[in-house]
Amino acid sequence: MNASVSPIHIQRRDATPVDTSCGHAHTERWSVDAVEALFDLPFNDLILRAQTVHREHFAPNQVELATLLSIKTGGCPEDCGYCPQSVHYDTGVDATKLMDVAAVAAAARTAKEHGATRFCMGAAWRAPKDRDIEAVSAIVREVKSLGLEACCTLGMLTEPQAQSLKDAGLDYYNHNLDTAPEAYGRVITTRDYQDRLNTLGHVRGAGINVCSGGIVGMGESRRERAGLVAQLANLDPYPESVPINELVRVEGTPMAEEKPLDPLEFVRTIAVARITMPLARVRLSAGRQQMSEAVQALCFLAGANSVFYGEKLLTTGNPDVEKDRALFEKLGVTTAASQHI
Ligand code: SF4
Repeated sequence: MNASVSPIHIQRRDATPVDTSCGHAHTERWSVDAVEALFDLPFNDLILRAQTVHREHFAPNQVELATLLSIKTGGCPEDCGYCPQSVHYDTGVDATKLMDVAAVAAAARTAKEHGATRFCMGAAWRAPKDRDIEAVSAIVREVKSLGLEACCTLGMLTEPQAQSLKDAGLDYYNHNLDTAPEAYGRVITTRDYQDRLNTLGHVRGAGINVCSGGIVGMGESRRERAGLVAQLANLDPYPESVPINELVRVEGTPMAEEKPLDPLEFVRTIAVARITMPLARVRLSAGRQQMSEAVQALCFLAGANSVFYGEKLLTTGNPDVEKDRALFEKLGVTTAASQHI
């Protein structure tokens, strides 16, 4: 812990670019040291600061619900060490073909009935072919016609592919940086960090909102967690949506035996993401099911304001959904579509 660091001495990055005398727009950057210094703050100071930033930009008791549907599962040639959908690991996941438009639309309708405002669709591709993009574009149009925001995660995109998805009405594209550049090679060997950044650049260039975050608890150090947050916060502009996942240790993957992350370190990661990316939706994503209610409550206090309900939302009366509703009620959290205040 580095309790000697005062929050006011930590470098700040403003949400809006700063105009300088040379006429170019610049943004201040977060150094890894500055982000690590946030991580090192006394817990109460960190949470107070994160909650203060949160209240400056968002309604304090509103959480966005997003639903994730896997529209093409498994059979992915990448070797992401945490992922049961990789062909490199024997995890019992059966590969499926891309779902048809009608089936996805039915799922999206159900999600909407359950209160979801954004419908996220994931396909386990390394990089989709152009014909895949055509098929997904038809799906996006259908989801949009239901009045939902549409988000996709399809792997690496070329510039024209990103433009096609934009033309179909796609609101968000998810492509996580996963971890810090220094830790990346320990997690994935079939592509490099720059590939990730290139796709994010193509998405941004097409005018699609960027959803990008990472996974913590993969054996990385605190400094590497700070490195991940600094990478995200220094994207210019930073992502509109930042999913923070906790590793789900899946049997058959190389990370099945990874030591669990201290829950308070997870909360710290949420708080640091909130402070460094004040206008982003910070989303509690994978791993939420394994968190206690108390830890989830701390995450909301630290500035998380979006959650994944997951595919299980699609089953009426699912106990996980009921448990979530009970937690939101206990916390006085509303889940209506939330807007910036
Ligand atoms: S690219 Fe996506 S689907 Fe493929 S192995 Fe990595 S995380 Fe899994």
